[in-house]
Amino acid sequence: MSDDCIFCSIVAGDIPARTVHETDDVFAFLDANPLAPGHTLVIPKVHAQHVGDLDADLASDLFAAVTELTPRVQDAVDADAANVGINDGEAAGQEVPHVHVHVIPRFDDDGGAPIHAVGGERPDLSDEELDAIAADIAG
Ligand code: 5GP
Ligand code: ZN
Repeated sequence: MSDDCIFCSIVAGDIPARTVHETDDVFAFLDANPLAPGHTLVIPKVHAQHVGDLDADLASDLFAAVTELTPRVQDAVDADAANVGINDGEAAGQEVPHVHVHVIPRFDDDGGAPIHAVGGERPDLSDEELDAIAADIAG
């Protein structure tokens, strides 16, 4: 637990939240400032800022909760679809430095945008640059 982390305080019960799911390792609750009805945050109970900080078992448990909850969230608010995403790091818009997966219900003609809208200006990359990036990621 991190003392000054809002989400650790929610897990500890020190800050109230509308809990929708809890296991030994994972916790889910409604977002206090929702982008849509049913907007849910799914988090590991242990404090970690980045997805790359999670060990494989915890990452697996977290994603299992996300896949279980996403249709339940949609059903609860009669949504047509959902965006599922993580702001991983400040430059990506992460404001709470405790890994959290947003499950955001979407409705036909709700005026929102696809996840592609989060990027900046699209880069114009050559085949060589794409090959080099792929090789770096592959390691
Ligand atoms: P981020 O920008 O870090 O990906 O998203 C943080 C999310 O946490 C925001 O959508 C914000 O509304 C939500 N949030 C911030 N503080 C609280 C809180 O105290 N309780 C709940 N339930 N949600 C919070
Ligand atoms: Zn935390």
